[in-house]
Amino acid sequence: MKNINVTVWNENRHEKQSEEVRELYPKGIHGAIADFLMKNVDIETTTATLDEPEHGLTEDVLNTTDVLIWWGHVAHDEVDDLIVDRIYGRVLEGMGLIVLHSGHFSKIFKKLMGTTCNLKWRVVDEKERLWVVEPGHPIAQGLGEYFEIPKAEMYGERFDIPAPDELVFISWFEGGEVFRSGCCYYRGKGRVFYFRPGHETYPIFHQAEVQRVITNAVRWAAPVSGPTPQFGNVAPLEDIK
Ligand code: ZN
Repeated sequence: MKNINVTVWNENRHEKQSEEVRELYPKGIHGAIADFLMKNVDIETTTATLDEPEHGLTEDVLNTTDVLIWWGHVAHDEVDDLIVDRIYGRVLEGMGLIVLHSGHFSKIFKKLMGTTCNLKWRVVDEKERLWVVEPGHPIAQGLGEYFEIPKAEMYGERFDIPAPDELVFISWFEGGEVFRSGCCYYRGKGRVFYFRPGHETYPIFHQAEVQRVITNAVRWAAPVSGPTPQFGNVAPLEDIK
């Protein structure tokens, strides 16, 4: 049963401007992600992009989204603050959010983290090895001790984020740097997962292990029907003597 509704959001600018990126992702990065997720019996996907009205993220769309996936890079500033506030509210209500790669600088991720989210970077086609450091975590399901991406952009520490509530992956790069590349957070009733791989000029979203992680992350981030917390002044449950 398709019981998890995923909206895959992409700024979709590199795909419009670069032949190289279009060749790698003919349906856009959002289309590639939506396609592999759709193969799962429990996951339904739709896509939304920056240039659509309200960036494709209307109240209706967000209210029926269980997990929002976010890919952005060159147009973070063009995302309307009103929409950012709308996503933020939905995360606190329990919608899952998966932020990929250069989405570390998106308005929504920075708002949820409260830090600059800055990092080191370099693009020289180097190898990345992602170590699973929390093997019992649901996002690590089906993976080995590590997996490798043959050519990647390097992201290096320090990554200016708050300490993750759960850290699932640490990346090592051929050039020597390391990076916390799979970070879980709880915000309100919502779950947030940051996953580092995914530069637009590499076929990373076609790689099986990367698809596995994103699929696992969708299931981890999906809303839980837990209690609705009550706040403010309350009467005691017992007689207080
Ligand atoms: Zn990149």
